[in-house]
Amino acid sequence: MIPEARDVWLRINEESFGNPSSQHRIGFRADRLLEEARHDLALMLHGEDHSIVWTSGATESNNLSLFQARQAAPEDAVVWISSIEHPCLRAAALRYFGESGVEWIPVDRSGRVELDWIISRLKTGDRPFLIAVMAANNETGAIQPWQELQRISQEHEIFFLCDAAQWLGKEPAAGLGACDWVTGSSHKFGGPKGCGFLKIPTSAGWHSEIRKTIRRSALLVGGPQEMGRRAGTENPAAVCSMVAALKQREDLIRKPGFRKSMEQWRDSFEAELMEFCPDIQVLSHPGPRLWNTSELLMPEPDNCRARWVVKLDRLGMAVSTGSACSSGKEVISPVLQAMQIPDSRATQSVRISSGWETVEEDWRLLGARMRELVVELTASHGG
Ligand code: PLP
Repeated sequence: MIPEARDVWLRINEESFGNPSSQHRIGFRADRLLEEARHDLALMLHGEDHSIVWTSGATESNNLSLFQARQAAPEDAVVWISSIEHPCLRAAALRYFGESGVEWIPVDRSGRVELDWIISRLKTGDRPFLIAVMAANNETGAIQPWQELQRISQEHEIFFLCDAAQWLGKEPAAGLGACDWVTGSSHKFGGPKGCGFLKIPTSAGWHSEIRKTIRRSALLVGGPQEMGRRAGTENPAAVCSMVAALKQREDLIRKPGFRKSMEQWRDSFEAELMEFCPDIQVLSHPGPRLWNTSELLMPEPDNCRARWVVKLDRLGMAVSTGSACSSGKEVISPVLQAMQIPDSRATQSVRISSGWETVEEDWRLLGARMRELVVELTASHGG
């Protein structure tokens, strides 16, 4: 948690610890804080307060959005889901719409959804109930054309769900409020874990009856909280510190040159690494990517990329593979499969994410260590 979020969390737990549903003044104060946070978040998204539901994170938000869609959609409705969505969204879509009710939107080799696929399907008269495309991918960082998709969906009276868990805090939140559903996760931008939100469709607009059903559908039942949309006592300290964290990040990323510098340091790291070892491939490059993400296909001969994670971890650098390597058998990432990367190559991916406090020297040091490891690992395999 960043200091701004931690301060708010401590202050609210000490001073405003009431249950927001209680009738006394302590409870009322906690409720007011929740409502102020709702208003502040709505302002950042350019959305409306009454469409924000506090949740335990983006997994719950994605599950709730697909559940709401299922409650409101006709029996034979079909949803179009991008093939690079987070597993929680893919699994929720399959749970509620079944194999026959989900169509996967293809991506190109750089990991961006095929807009043309969507446009040409719409031209032939196909109408899904819902289109779901994330704002930015959690493995490659590839930025998706969510603004355009929001507009197209709106034009065709199709609901649009945008998982913005990776986008928020790294790119401006403004405009996301125009999407019907938006999911966000606090720990992705310096807030506490176990907290998130779902922005749900507004009551105004086409299909007003369907909107009504959506807005009153709750996945967790048994309490009137969140206007009946999510039962369970809210956590004002977590919610307010999440919103404080997002505000801080919004201020930071809007500072002139901030994102540009971050991007340049990451790009120099990648360029130097590729020059040193041309077998290394940077995914979704070139093309619009989040400034903090670098997913690499490494040249390691025995294809257990967990080795990279372990070796870099010992050197004090926490990177990830994106999926597990257990008992020598690699689970292939569906994102890389969708990008048509051969399985043999996909098992060599290493994902690196920088933070807002990362400095140029951090990228330089990581680059130097990785170059040493390339030499070491190649030598140990007789290369
Ligand atoms: N969606 C995306 C794009 C994510 O990257 C993640 C987490 O990595 C999630 C959803 C799940 O978020 P949470 O950890 O808040 O449940």
